[in-house]
Amino acid sequence: DTAITVIGAGLAGSEAALAAATLGVRVRLLEMRPVKMTPAHRTGNFAELVCSTSLGGEGEMQAKGLLQAELRSVGGAIVGAADGSRVPAGNALAVDRDEFSARVTRAVREHPLIEVVEGEVEAVPEGIVVIATGPLTADALAADVARLTGSERLSFYDAAAPVIAAESINLDVAWRAGRYDQSADYINCPFNKEEYLRFFEALEQARSHTPHDWEKLEFFEGCMPIEEIARRGVDTPRFGPMSPKGLDDPRTGRWPYAVAQLRQEDREGRMWSLVGFQTGLKWGDQKAVVNLIPGLENAEIVRYGVMHRNTYLNAPEVLDSTLQLRADPTKFVAGVLAGTEGYLESAATGWLAGTNAARLALGLAPLTPPTESMLGGLVRYLASANPKGFQPMNVNWALVPELPAELNPKTGKPRKLGKREKRPVMFRRGLNAFLGWAGQEAGLTVTPPAVPQHEADAL
Ligand code: FAD
Repeated sequence: DTAITVIGAGLAGSEAALAAATLGVRVRLLEMRPVKMTPAHRTGNFAELVCSTSLGGEGEMQAKGLLQAELRSVGGAIVGAADGSRVPAGNALAVDRDEFSARVTRAVREHPLIEVVEGEVEAVPEGIVVIATGPLTADALAADVARLTGSERLSFYDAAAPVIAAESINLDVAWRAGRYDQSADYINCPFNKEEYLRFFEALEQARSHTPHDWEKLEFFEGCMPIEEIARRGVDTPRFGPMSPKGLDDPRTGRWPYAVAQLRQEDREGRMWSLVGFQTGLKWGDQKAVVNLIPGLENAEIVRYGVMHRNTYLNAPEVLDSTLQLRADPTKFVAGVLAGTEGYLESAATGWLAGTNAARLALGLAPLTPPTESMLGGLVRYLASANPKGFQPMNVNWALVPELPAELNPKTGKPRKLGKREKRPVMFRRGLNAFLGWAGQEAGLTVTPPAVPQHEADAL
């Protein structure tokens, strides 16, 4: 029987179902909404956009632009519905959310090979299955996925701390050191009692502004937000992540009253994150609170902290670049659950999972798109990233190989290309590789897409 099951009719699942059906494979699509809603969805429509209405920047300067072009070339349903419902938004592919979801819903419901079954799925069924239940996968199914993969491979939260630009840290106040005799890997911001109390009060104030909306977080001790730690008492932060123990302030020779530590995020040391400061505070409040940390009076926050429910697998430990579970290759995973972040990335992995699930049903080998393509780069990353602290990934240019060094004909030395020169070349290289792969290796009908010409970066 050449039938597959897709669980979840979100961004990834809708695309997966349509991709498989296009290959002539019958699809049973299981969706729990509207019978059971998630904390973020509001309708029973397929591919509902739960927050912004943008599928990312367009054109040949943009990593998302390349992924959009790849999906257009193979008739991707999500990007097609977006093109059909777009609204003007500068250089971004933004849509009318109702029109967009209505188009996807219609395409799915009208497809003769897709049968939609309403209701919550509690266990992964037998046979060839694409699991695409997203960041808010219902609990029973999450437990069953954890059983398939090992529970330590399934995360339920993204808990991130603010990241600060190194050049904005005041090193006349903060200093480099490790606790006791450990190597000096941290930047330490010292508080006296008065400064600490002022900081604590601002944190308390800010917490009272934090909306208690759909998330209903159950905090794990390891990723408790700083505002929740503070809720336990005025001294709790300084006996926890803000402990001054083993940190002699070079200006006093003594341990301060409390310390905020920063840890290096990138290899060059241009970005530092506040250790133990996961936070769900509003961005304005985050900035005000961070600026009360001595040494961070003028800190520039390059990435704000987030705390949100996000169900995702530790992809590098469980997935192949074909999006098959290593433990059971008849099971495919796509979307946020597969360790991607973003509407477009979810659709793209949905397309690949649906295509590969259909291939498996047809007795063909599942495939991985070429390295130079954005989709190929993304799924290879998922399968091969460092599993330690793995967090869901957006597409970006670092996922595809650098261009080979070009020699300056005059000096014979490698010529360094700026991003404005490089990206259009990487874009064409990626799109050509994808078109060749899709047309030949995957045997699909491909249409080279028109590429909007935009210079500036867009969100
Ligand atoms: P979804 O689109 O959520 O689809 C999963 C589907 O599975 C849903 O329809 C759900 O009802 C169904 N389902 C779940 N469990 C079951 C079950 N047991 N049985 C049957 N059906 C089930 N990304 C952006 O690019 N821009 C944003 O602005 C953005 N905002 C976000 C805001 C929030 C609150 C969240 C949680 C995520 C946001 N994301 C955003 C991230 C991500 O891109 C989206 O969540 C995206 O919808 C993920 O696609 P998906 O297909 O993986 O999951």
